[in-house]
Amino acid sequence: MKTAVSTTEQNLRIKEAELPTIEHSGAIVRILGCGLCGSDLVKIKDKNGLENIVHGHEIVGNIVEIKTLNKNIHLKKGDTIVAGHHVPCYECHYCNNKNYSMCSKFKQTNFVPGGFSEYIFLSEDHLEHTAIKVPDNLSEVEASFCEPAACCIRAIKRAETKQNDKVIIIGLGSIGIIMGQVAKHYGAYVIGCDLIDERIKAAENLGFDESIKFESQEITSKYIIKQCNDIGADQVFLTSGSKSSLDLAIKSVRNGGKIIVFSSISSPYAYIHNNDIYYKELSIIGCYSASPEDLKDSIAMLGKGIIKTDNLTTVYDFDDINLAIDDTVNNKIIKAYIKISQNKNDTNKEQFK
Ligand SMILES: [Zn+2]
Ligand SMILES: [Zn+2]
Repeated sequence: MKTAVSTTEQNLRIKEAELPTIEHSGAIVRILGCGLCGSDLVKIKDKNGLENIVHGHEIVGNIVEIKTLNKNIHLKKGDTIVAGHHVPCYECHYCNNKNYSMCSKFKQTNFVPGGFSEYIFLSEDHLEHTAIKVPDNLSEVEASFCEPAACCIRAIKRAETKQNDKVIIIGLGSIGIIMGQVAKHYGAYVIGCDLIDERIKAAENLGFDESIKFESQEITSKYIIKQCNDIGADQVFLTSGSKSSLDLAIKSVRNGGKIIVFSSISSPYAYIHNNDIYYKELSIIGCYSASPEDLKDSIAMLGKGIIKTDNLTTVYDFDDINLAIDDTVNNKIIKAYIKISQNKNDTNKEQFK
C-alpha cells in the first residue's frame, strides 16, 4: 500500500509500505481521504521533525476487516467511519477532571501508521470510543471535518459561550470559520476578523454576524469595542498565533473577559501581558484537541447542518500531497482534503475479501 512519510526536506514522500494487520482485535480501514490539518503542517515543516512519520488524522474510511468481541462496538465491515486518533483512559486525574487531551494514554494512542495512508489499523479502544459511523447525508469531505470541528466545539465548551455573548474570532481559516458557527449555535453574536478577502467572504456566507478585514490595531479594536456594547468582547478566540493577533485580542476583550488560545506559535516565548491580565481580570484559556464526546457532538452538528463546510475545501490526489501542503502554507486555499482511495463500489483496489 502507499503511505506518505515525512522527510528531512520538510515535505512528504509517497512510499510503499506493508499492509497493516490485526493481531488480536481491531479493524483495518481503507482510507478514502484525509484532511490536512494545521498541526500536520507544523510537524511537516519542523526543521527538527522526525523522518518516516505518517501524519494525518482527519480521516474518512471504510472498514474492510473487523475483529472484536467487545459488545459496545456496533461497527461492522463495510461501514464508512470517521475516527479520532487519540483515546483517553477515563481513569486518571486528568480524565476525572475532563482534561481528556492531557491524559497520557490520550497522547500515546494513534492510528497505525497514520491518516495519509491507503490503509490503517484501528485498535479496539479506538473502535469503542472514537470511531463513528458517518450519517448518510454527509459527503466524504464534510465528514472529514468531524475531528477539527470537535476541537472547535471543545473550545466553545471550555469558554462557556452562552446566549448574547459577544464573540470575536481572529483568524478565519477553516477552524475560525467553524468556531464562529459553533459560537452562533450557542447563541453568541459573532464577529470574524482576518486579512484575506476570500476568508472574510466565506465567514460571511456561513452565517457570521459580521466578518471584517483587519486594518490596524487602533481602527479594528475600536470598531470591535463599539460593536460589543462599547466595552469589548466577552470572548476572543485566537486561531492564529501571530503577535498582532495577540495584541488585537488584548485590546478587544472586555474587562473580565476570556481569551481562548487555539494555535501554537513558532516561538515558545510569547510575551505575556501580565498587567492586562491582572488589572483587567482576564482569563486565558488554552484548548487542545478533542474528547470522544466532542467527536460525537461534532458529527451530530455536521449531520444536522449546524456546522457547514461549503466551499472551504480543495481536493487533491494523494500523489499531489506536497502541492496541497504548499498551497495551504501559501494561503492559496482554505483547507486541503487528500483523496486517497476510491469508494467501496470501486473494487479494483479491494485487497480484502
Ligand atoms: Zn486536526
Ligand atoms: Zn486519562
